[in-house]
Amino acid sequence: MHAFDYHRPTSLADAKALYATLEDPMYVSGGMTLIPSMKQRLAAPSDLIDLSSLSELQGIAQLNDAHGATLRVGGLTRHNEVADSALIQQHMPVLGQVAAAIGDNQVRNRGTLGGSIANADPAADLPAALLAMKAVVNTQDRQTPADDFFLDLFETALDAGDIVVSVDFSPPLQAVYEKFRHPASGYAVVGVLVARYADGVRVGVTGAGPCAFRACAMEEALNQEFLPQAVDAVDIPDAGFNSDMHASAEYRAHLIKVLTKRAVQTLLS
Ligand SMILES: Cc1cc2nc3c(=O)[nH]c(=O)nc-3n(C[C@H](O)[C@H](O)[C@H](O)COP(=O)(O)OP(=O)(O)OC[C@H]3O[C@@H](n4cnc5c(N)ncnc54)[C@H](O)[C@@H]3O)c2cc1C
Repeated sequence: MHAFDYHRPTSLADAKALYATLEDPMYVSGGMTLIPSMKQRLAAPSDLIDLSSLSELQGIAQLNDAHGATLRVGGLTRHNEVADSALIQQHMPVLGQVAAAIGDNQVRNRGTLGGSIANADPAADLPAALLAMKAVVNTQDRQTPADDFFLDLFETALDAGDIVVSVDFSPPLQAVYEKFRHPASGYAVVGVLVARYADGVRVGVTGAGPCAFRACAMEEALNQEFLPQAVDAVDIPDAGFNSDMHASAEYRAHLIKVLTKRAVQTLLS
């Protein structure tokens, strides 16, 4: 690991101001991805800005807005906090299900929502949830719908210095997450979240492509008929899909269909 300086600001404004003055800084939240990357010298920031003291990034709350039931989850919320939250269990249990499916207990005790989505690992679970659940990512000065947030492999719509302050979710009528888990790492080989809203079905997919995406053809088929067999005829082109020693692109495309059907069956039963 290269030498670096450590900072622990206590306000969002101070963290942003610090970032602007330093040579090659990086934010750190849970450190579950960044610290191993630094140990392997894949990342070598001049300075680490620890976000863990920023109260603006903490908490889970229900907003009384025009949408009624929006749930706002702070960027520093750890995966186990999401999994254990009574508010989430009551209004959006599927998000707790997703968080509980992440890695192992140690990872869930440290890893954060903001860190996970800022990192945008192609096999991370939460991006599929954000896409399927009409999420909006709040940084210090703008709001970005999840549909516009995940751009490519480890690439998001965040600009340098942006901080994920919170994420707003619209609780669906019904939703379930199906994950084909990598047996060693626990990451998703493929994960599919199917959510039903009054205005239609949304299907978020992770693990298959360079970043999470919505399976729009599946959504159309399920909006016609919400049955597992409705997706049988849907073509899932695998061009550009991930292909490695664990699963070919073709197999990942196959998994999307299998997991979607499984999710629909679960929601119907
Ligand atoms: C062994 C292991 C198994 C794992 N298994 C899974 C799994 O099954 N599924 C899964 O989804 N994930 C998995 N993870 C990832 C883990 O869940 C964390 O979510 C992830 O490491 C990032 O969160 P973090 O808070 O640790 O971020 P950090 O490591 O602190 O930061 C990651 C990146 O995000 C940036 N960042 C952090 N916080 C913010 C913020 N608020 N705003 C803007 N930028 C920010 C940092 O600068 C850095 O670039 C696993 C990790 C490990 C080590």
